[in-house]
Amino acid sequence: MSAQNSWFEVTEVLKDVFLISEPGHAEWINSYLLKTDPPVLIDTGMGIGDISLVVRQLLGKDDLKNVLVINTHSHYDHIGGNHLFNRIAIYYSEREYLYKPQKKEIIDWIIDNSNFTRSPPTDFDETTFRIVPSHATMLLHDGEVIKLKDRHLEIIHAPGHSPGSICLFDYATKTLFSGDVIYKGPLYAHLEESNLKTYYRTMRKLMLTWQHKIKRVLPAHNEVPLVPMVIERMEKAFEQILNGTAEFTLENDIKRYSFKRFSILTK
Ligand SMILES: [Zn+2]
Repeated sequence: MSAQNSWFEVTEVLKDVFLISEPGHAEWINSYLLKTDPPVLIDTGMGIGDISLVVRQLLGKDDLKNVLVINTHSHYDHIGGNHLFNRIAIYYSEREYLYKPQKKEIIDWIIDNSNFTRSPPTDFDETTFRIVPSHATMLLHDGEVIKLKDRHLEIIHAPGHSPGSICLFDYATKTLFSGDVIYKGPLYAHLEESNLKTYYRTMRKLMLTWQHKIKRVLPAHNEVPLVPMVIERMEKAFEQILNGTAEFTLENDIKRYSFKRFSILTK
């Protein structure tokens, strides 16, 4: 096993769907490789380890030219390995954030020792670490369907966490790849680019239009998989926040609304 493989943890969650997670960092980010034609990589992780080596190993080939990266959004923890691939798709309104330099606070947070629960790969150098800029080669829109050999992926615009966040629905396996829209843990609706009302409308759309079609949710952070019912629970939680019936605690300037298996952070 290479050093990279001890940083990434690989699990075949469904036939030909590989979870590539990074549980050694507080972000506990999940990327997914769909072994289809062409292969699809949903997000590329933090850039701490070389995710392309894992993808090569899983595909059993060196040539990654036809791998299609689909970013669920442009946050640093989802695009760190983008530069290792040729084909990058992202929702059209977030394209520029793939190449804008990251703020120093973000880099400092990534490399902060206390965020590591495992040693990073031996070639990781915190003094030179950065999110290498990348460029979109394909721009995504709501309702677009990406046709692959044995599956269709529908792009669902799911703003709120970020304006150009997407979820992907795989018709073949009835799986929702939910990005940062849905996961177990604190949901971020407090960022500069977040919007609580928009986030609620997204959850409502997912509940009314998609939940009954979905068998499982594969999120971009933490435990995998989640049951579809989580969508309804989160929709109700957002509703309670917006109608003023949910309680919160204040942490610095951020309100934390705590629910059973998740919380929601807002300003
Ligand atoms: Zn995010």
